[in-house]
Amino acid sequence: MYRIGIDLGGTNIAAGVVDESQHIVAETSVPTGAERGAEAVVADICRAAELAMAKAGITAAHCASIGIGSPGTCDGSRGVVVRAYNLGWFNVPVCDMVTARLGLPCRLSNDANCAALAETVAGAAVGCRNMVLVTLGTGVGVGIVSDGKLLEGVGGTGAEAGHAILVLDGEPCTCGRKGCWEAYASATALIRQGRRAALAHPESPMARCGDALTAKDVFDAADGGDETAQAVLAQYYVYVAAGVTDLVNILGPEMVLIGGGISRQGERLLSPVREYVAANCFGGHDRLPPVIEAARLGNEAGIIGAAAL
Ligand SMILES: [Zn+2]
Repeated sequence: MYRIGIDLGGTNIAAGVVDESQHIVAETSVPTGAERGAEAVVADICRAAELAMAKAGITAAHCASIGIGSPGTCDGSRGVVVRAYNLGWFNVPVCDMVTARLGLPCRLSNDANCAALAETVAGAAVGCRNMVLVTLGTGVGVGIVSDGKLLEGVGGTGAEAGHAILVLDGEPCTCGRKGCWEAYASATALIRQGRRAALAHPESPMARCGDALTAKDVFDAADGGDETAQAVLAQYYVYVAAGVTDLVNILGPEMVLIGGGISRQGERLLSPVREYVAANCFGGHDRLPPVIEAARLGNEAGIIGAAAL
């Protein structure tokens, strides 16, 4: 049997047919066009699923289920997107709508959760029953697999570790609080840290980028020997690692994976994070720190994880 995975994003809807070996055998993508409203978007989710099935040369009769990874707060038990600001969705019963059209059982979860699940079935954490995926991008997304199951909290409201406080009364966060981990460890935060350092050190090559500074510019400046950029990164790694240490202390996972654009820095990021976690996690020398690696799946994680729901 095949399963269908839908990666619902603010820009595109990606649909894929996934086989029993977790390979995407066919996929398609259509623009989301969220401004058209939920009915039209859900109709396109179904159309994309049908297109992907047609490409794979199968019909719904060959499929066991369809899974959807959505942004925002998703209540998996009811199949409802409770709140997704970038889609403008509130309490949309997506699963019932999809099942009515395609006749397939439908499951729904948050995109960060789907990415974590994908790593356990086809990525860097295959066979791992207790793991955390931290995605460092525009924000900090966290997906937690505990005893082989997604840890989603009541009504899908949990696992939002990006909004745990790292610095009380610290930097403002998009969620309205101050000092969230996301406000220090996201790629957006790294850019802000780089801009601030460049203002204080106009001799840094980062200063030439002005407001156009990217996370890559900070890494490039550090590679070129710029001590200001090197200091920004050293501090950034501590912000990332301190939050990872909290997750390790709370969950005691076997493995922590780091994904998102920043994770392309590989060992340069992973090695200081490993060192910090090993030195600071509760239990110190008496416990083995978890394995900390880069996530392995890229864009396909959304489809594979959604299908695995
Ligand atoms: Zn926050």
